Amino acid sequence: MPRRPGGLDPTEINEALAALNSATTPEALEEVLERVPALSSPFLHAILRQKHLELQNSKSPHLRSFEGRYHFMFLLLHERWHQSLVAQSRASYAQTGPTDIEPVGTEPYAPTFWMALLRELDGALPPAKGPFYDPETDSEALNAELSACLGRTITLPPFTATPGSKWAAIVVGCGACDRRRLDVRAYVADLVIAPELIEPLREQRINASRCPACGATLSYPVRVWVLEAPGAGDTLAMLSCAWRLARNVFSYQPPPGTQRVEENDRILEIRFGQLLRAVPWPDPDGQPSADGPVQATMTISYSPAELIHYLDRASAPSDQIPFAMETMIREMTRKVESGILPLHQAIDTVLEHAAMFGHDWPLVNPGLPRFFKGPPLAHLFHCLVSEGVLRAQSAPPDARTMFATLTASSLLALGEGALAEAALARAEDSLALVEPGRAHDLVAAAVADTRADLLEFLNRYDEAAAIRQQLLVNPDLQTNNLQARMARAGIASHVVST
Ligand SMILES: [Zn+2]
Repeated sequence: MPRRPGGLDPTEINEALAALNSATTPEALEEVLERVPALSSPFLHAILRQKHLELQNSKSPHLRSFEGRYHFMFLLLHERWHQSLVAQSRASYAQTGPTDIEPVGTEPYAPTFWMALLRELDGALPPAKGPFYDPETDSEALNAELSACLGRTITLPPFTATPGSKWAAIVVGCGACDRRRLDVRAYVADLVIAPELIEPLREQRINASRCPACGATLSYPVRVWVLEAPGAGDTLAMLSCAWRLARNVFSYQPPPGTQRVEENDRILEIRFGQLLRAVPWPDPDGQPSADGPVQATMTISYSPAELIHYLDRASAPSDQIPFAMETMIREMTRKVESGILPLHQAIDTVLEHAAMFGHDWPLVNPGLPRFFKGPPLAHLFHCLVSEGVLRAQSAPPDARTMFATLTASSLLALGEGALAEAALARAEDSLALVEPGRAHDLVAAAVADTRADLLEFLNRYDEAAAIRQQLLVNPDLQTNNLQARMARAGIASHVVST
């Protein structure tokens, strides 16, 4: 069977990469994007992201030239997507007009300088075209434009940067009715450094503006007017925001009105990566940095409500499943279900990450696949996380054998015989390290039982029956459920049930 990962064959992938490499100007890149549809495929985006990561990690001299193309390509893809959202929203507004307008009830929140700017304007708008001003260095020119625009002399208070957040004033057009308004937005907000932003965030007073005429949230940038350095990289990015919700938890707020489209997730993730690198994310003073590797948790918040949900989750007490672990299981399930990540790759990633970061994660026993409440893939990823956590915590080989066996069962339930075989091989490797004795026999029996399941799956019924016949001799296996086996093997004490 020819391999077509992500629906692309290797030739298509190579041709797309070559076409991308050949584009040396922005115009050429636009042309290539139009001509080679594979460049819009989420699978290719994953390949490009991997390549970017490799170049970064190896500090390659090719990074600069690759990165220029890479970021521009994803800017183009993002712009096209955003423009199509606006076009759709315009069309439906033209047909139905405004519906159910919820009045805009909340006052926007911003640091002093920006609130003064809004107060002076009092609903008036600066011209749609013109330069952008850095409030730090261009206050004279800004005051002059503002005075000319309002017909009276305006002197804004001196600008002072606020630690932990960066802001801009942008003239936006409503994505539905096209009414213009001024939106003062944060494009970087670090709640660890600036906890004073938490309350206004919860009150939906930051980056939550809607059109006062029709209530739509979708908007597009008309003019970036006042911009605190360094800026988000491009005009569309100025409508997005990188949030740090807790020490290692980040969330990307895409331009308002963006809705989740599975196959475009990579575009936003890559745009998020670029925005994150625009500014440093210092640790708060007086807090030592964490020992051991730390996994940053990245989420995408499509609405202010979703952002607040992640904030709650990030600040919840950590006696539950850690947020990082939960996010990984949910994201992997989503990516594999939607076909943008091959299952075998997801398996490797989860095992690797949990082994690297799971030193303080709880060991969660998801139980047998048929009793699991949730998608079968989530069961699988729970098993794999547990395998990884056991590695991270250098757990004894009997526990590792049991969980690899459980992973094999989960893969069999998914109909993945070859991958189940690989998991069972891990179980057998760990089993070889278990000291002889009763625990060894019990764990060995569990492996043999799963081996029989696998043989049955492969239609090798006679061999399966022979194994089962032998297992019957062992009285310990008469209670044939996982919890009982775990208990007998003496490894249940530190396991949390879901
Ligand atoms: Zn509107």
